[in-house]
Amino acid sequence: MSRRCSLPFVISLATLAAPALAQHAFDPARAPADDASILLAPEPYKTYRGHSLIRAVIRDHTEFNRVLAISGDCWTHTPRLEQPIDFLIPPGGLHAIRALGVSFDIIEPDMGEVVAAERARLNAPQTRGWYDDYKNLEAISDKVDELVALRPDLVSRFIVGPSLESRTIFGFRIDSPTPGPAGTIKPVIYIHATQHAREWLAPMTTMYVAEQLIAGYATDPDATAFLDKFTVIVVPVVNVDGYVYTWTTQRFWRKNRRNNANGTFGVDLNRNWSYAWGNNNGSSGSGASETYRGTAPFSEPEAAGLRDHILSTPGIILAFDIHTYGPLILSPWGYTASPPPILPYFNSLGLLMQSAIASVNALTFTSGQWYSTLYPASGANIDWWYGDQSVLNWTIELRGGSFAPPPTDIIPSGQEIYAGLLALAQTFCRADYNHDAFMNGNDYDDFVVDWIGALPAADYDRNGFVNADDFDAFVVEFEQGC
Ligand SMILES: [Zn+2]
Repeated sequence: MSRRCSLPFVISLATLAAPALAQHAFDPARAPADDASILLAPEPYKTYRGHSLIRAVIRDHTEFNRVLAISGDCWTHTPRLEQPIDFLIPPGGLHAIRALGVSFDIIEPDMGEVVAAERARLNAPQTRGWYDDYKNLEAISDKVDELVALRPDLVSRFIVGPSLESRTIFGFRIDSPTPGPAGTIKPVIYIHATQHAREWLAPMTTMYVAEQLIAGYATDPDATAFLDKFTVIVVPVVNVDGYVYTWTTQRFWRKNRRNNANGTFGVDLNRNWSYAWGNNNGSSGSGASETYRGTAPFSEPEAAGLRDHILSTPGIILAFDIHTYGPLILSPWGYTASPPPILPYFNSLGLLMQSAIASVNALTFTSGQWYSTLYPASGANIDWWYGDQSVLNWTIELRGGSFAPPPTDIIPSGQEIYAGLLALAQTFCRADYNHDAFMNGNDYDDFVVDWIGALPAADYDRNGFVNADDFDAFVVEFEQGC
């Protein structure tokens, strides 16, 4: 169940701070497609002319599968019977949907117009602030360099690994000089976004949250307290090839760019993780599907590279996978309806974030376990984090009514997720060892039993060893509160 004592390596703090990790990671010369130039796209740009976005109410599984067969692309993250579900419908498909007797509204009669308007806007000279419109991969990479230059004492850039098309997946680490309790590794929050290429609000929101913390350190009390308590690791775009492809060729491309060698392209990176891979109808074995799981767990370099970076990062205690659209705060499991033993704890923290988020713009995110009877997810990152690594984590589905929300959603979305993370950071305490939302003698007793038994769970600082540092760090946080 635990990663902590099964780490296949020994890593030191000196290794973590290795200068090589801070080098500029994005090299446009290595990128086969020039994502900065939409107009130079080598393939014809898909216009989506005549594609409509509908919101249907589905009565049973058979009806869902029939609509999905026509659409091929369900846009609602956790669809439920008798609840509105969004589908992208190709030209001519509406007639077939009507013939099924399905009740639906047309949300957007021609997504081609939406895409064309967005593209025209993005091709126009950009003179406004960075968060006033969506940014391509190169601009996001440049922004990371800007943040490093702004606060080199806090921010360092690293390389996750190469993508299938040999682009560089990059990230950055935000680390204040304050050490962890009793001199141990400070707990790490790992935030990654954009496993799904078309979810453009995800990297923007993630960068906004990171910049709030970085720019606010030592001036804003909330940001300062956050970074003195946690180290934050950010990977804004996991699916770099797919992301570039959404800018050059197909705006609503979701998967990576794997050539499946049968006329289909792409593996859904968020069905390619090893935990419960392929279980329970939660993914597809067909390369044409938007939820194609790939030929094997971690067959895709983007998922495998992210896994390897996670495994080489000690101290991780919380993680977030950022997607659009919901708005939803989702906890494990995705592959089964069975609740994890600590579902009440997940729910209490989810509701805490929900409340903090709602206080910003009065938008209420739905919070709960991911599993959906209509569309479960197996091999998703969320279940690997928890099932394989024992790390508490959530998938956040941001605001927005489609995969092309207006750019005016960017800053409100950033404000919402920043508020949710601050609330979590202020409340979360590792010394609540049994995850019952109370810190008391039971936590102490449970920890000591595990520590004496050298159980993986007692690796309090998650560096791969159970030793005296863990005991000291636990006692400091237990006695002082977090
Ligand atoms: Zn997604």
